[in-house]
Amino acid sequence: MTGQHRIVILGAGYAGLAAARRLARTARDAHITVVDASASFVERVRLHQYGAGQSIPEWDLRELLEPEQIHFVLAWANGIDTVRKQVILDGAVALDYDSLIYALGSTNDATGVPGVAEHAYSVATPEDSQRLRTSISAARIVVVGSGATGIELAAELAEYQPDSRVLLVGSDAPASWLSRRAQEHVRRVLERLGVEIRSDAKVIEVMPDGVRLADGSVLETAATVWTAGFGVADLAGRSGLAVDGHGRVLTDETLRSVSHPEVYAAGDAAVVVGPDGRDLRMACATALPTGKYAADAVLARLAGREPRELRFRYYFQCISLGRRDGVIQFLHSDDSPGRTVLTGRPAAWFKEQIVQGAGRAARP
Ligand SMILES: Cc1cc2nc3c(=O)[nH]c(=O)nc-3n(C[C@H](O)[C@H](O)[C@H](O)COP(=O)(O)OP(=O)(O)OC[C@H]3O[C@@H](n4cnc5c(N)ncnc54)[C@H](O)[C@@H]3O)c2cc1C
Repeated sequence: MTGQHRIVILGAGYAGLAAARRLARTARDAHITVVDASASFVERVRLHQYGAGQSIPEWDLRELLEPEQIHFVLAWANGIDTVRKQVILDGAVALDYDSLIYALGSTNDATGVPGVAEHAYSVATPEDSQRLRTSISAARIVVVGSGATGIELAAELAEYQPDSRVLLVGSDAPASWLSRRAQEHVRRVLERLGVEIRSDAKVIEVMPDGVRLADGSVLETAATVWTAGFGVADLAGRSGLAVDGHGRVLTDETLRSVSHPEVYAAGDAAVVVGPDGRDLRMACATALPTGKYAADAVLARLAGREPRELRFRYYFQCISLGRRDGVIQFLHSDDSPGRTVLTGRPAAWFKEQIVQGAGRAARP
């Protein structure tokens, strides 16, 4: 024991790495450790590309972190002993912490609809996407979920796997939360790429060779990909931290756990209440600033100060439509869609810059 303050960061996704990067630059006298079950960082926002068969970049976490004097532990975190202040790891000795930043992100939500866990693919994690890419055939693929991930995946599959037939199924029209102009563009491009769209169709069961809809009909498919929601691990709740009904860590306005003051949470695994009182979305656009803020909050308290206020707003939402098209929806300060929409190649270029910029902002 060196007497240094030990800060452990669980998760090396956008939030965890943004926190680590911030600490490495500002907390010279703390001992910082990052834990992740994966040896490499991949840009999760590209997993629909990876699932569709494309190559995406990855970075070795040890090589990224250790030159910054950040210790990296490659291990699966299995629990937190909040009394001893230790993280319990599979196959490695427990890690002591003085402050903990919980940033374990999210996975596919396979609960709620029978058959999803057994028969559906997903692009929520690199392992899920790997399974999908090795199973793509020329036959029909049903993508369930007309949110951003479903739209992006359907477009990517149609463009990159032109022999497959892609059907996008959802209970709403694709991108229904965006402006009319954005929605029309999304539909136009999906149709141009050959994606068949079924709106107002609620999937109630996934079977090995099809999906059953609420009206009783069955859509036959060689593969079903579930994109209709992200879930989080139960680790925080099992460890006694206060969590919401989905298992996300409940935090105060400084991202500190409401039950355990030495624990902070950021990114998809945290409930972060935005300036207007609504929970922030699970998004890379949330994970980066909240990771950075959690690091600042830990440091402020170490220095005996109260953290500054978390200032936050979304400016736009980007959806890629294959590699050559996209939609950038500019947003009002309350996150509702504004009038300005960028489409076509400029939107594809814009989104690519955002994705690259987010990766750079995370990597130390
Ligand atoms: C296909 C796809 C496209 C997306 N596109 C966009 C987009 O365009 N814009 C946007 O804003 N958001 C997008 N998102 C959402 C965005 O990727 C997430 O909101 C973001 O990655 C959350 O960051 P995070 O750091 O909280 O978690 P993650 O990025 O999920 O990182 C969590 C890390 O924790 C590790 N981990 C998890 N459990 C354990 C454990 N028990 N032990 C050890 N390590 C563990 C994981 O290996 C991972 O490295 C997309 C998501 C997907 C899947």
